[in-house]
Amino acid sequence: MPRDGETSGLTPTLLIGGRPVDIRIRRHGRASRISLRIDLRDGAVVLVLPPDADERQGLAFARTKADWLSARLAAVPARIPFADGTVLPLAGEPHTLRHTPLARRGVWVEGGTVFVSGQAEHMPRRVSDWLKQRAREAICAEALPMAAALDAKVARIALGDPRSRWGSCNSRGHLGFSWRLVLAPPPVLRYVVAHEVAHLRQLNHSPAFWRLVGTLMPEAQQAREWLKCHGGALHRYG
Ligand SMILES: [Zn+2]
Repeated sequence: MPRDGETSGLTPTLLIGGRPVDIRIRRHGRASRISLRIDLRDGAVVLVLPPDADERQGLAFARTKADWLSARLAAVPARIPFADGTVLPLAGEPHTLRHTPLARRGVWVEGGTVFVSGQAEHMPRRVSDWLKQRAREAICAEALPMAAALDAKVARIALGDPRSRWGSCNSRGHLGFSWRLVLAPPPVLRYVVAHEVAHLRQLNHSPAFWRLVGTLMPEAQQAREWLKCHGGALHRYG
């Protein structure tokens, strides 16, 4: 997936409305002025710098916008923790998390309920491990036949939680995916897998690449639109 700009290694902090807020800096070759936005997925402040501005100028600009940032940050939707009673989407369908401390069954699904055994303080970790495992299974089940159909070879599949993309592919055949795709409807996961698998043959976004995606996943356009509208909300969970 394309990524505009790159992030510097350092994350400066500014006091905004009396609390410290991390400022994520992005350099953008085509930006003509310093600008600020809020990443609604995680409530981070993103400072975009054009080529001729340095970090110090950018932070000075951000300080002058502290009131605006403070108001915007207050409006960012809260995170949704993996706790008893939380409703989260699983393959696009709402499921309720239920803590069942005495059951010794790990994590399991029955109908629209995800049961989680063990102590309450371990619940977030157990749910997230379980979701990652399900994501891995679902992604592998899609990626391997797709790669075979293109006569391409997947060297490795890694799962992570990147903020700015849903999948990645490199020339060594390493595919990377966000585990959060397991929350999305199956065609959306299938599209992201098709996108990255198609990169095994075409490491670009040429018309030939998009034709390959279309052969693997005819409903690619609807899935892309779903991600544009709803993808950000998946970052609120956990
Ligand atoms: Zn791509």
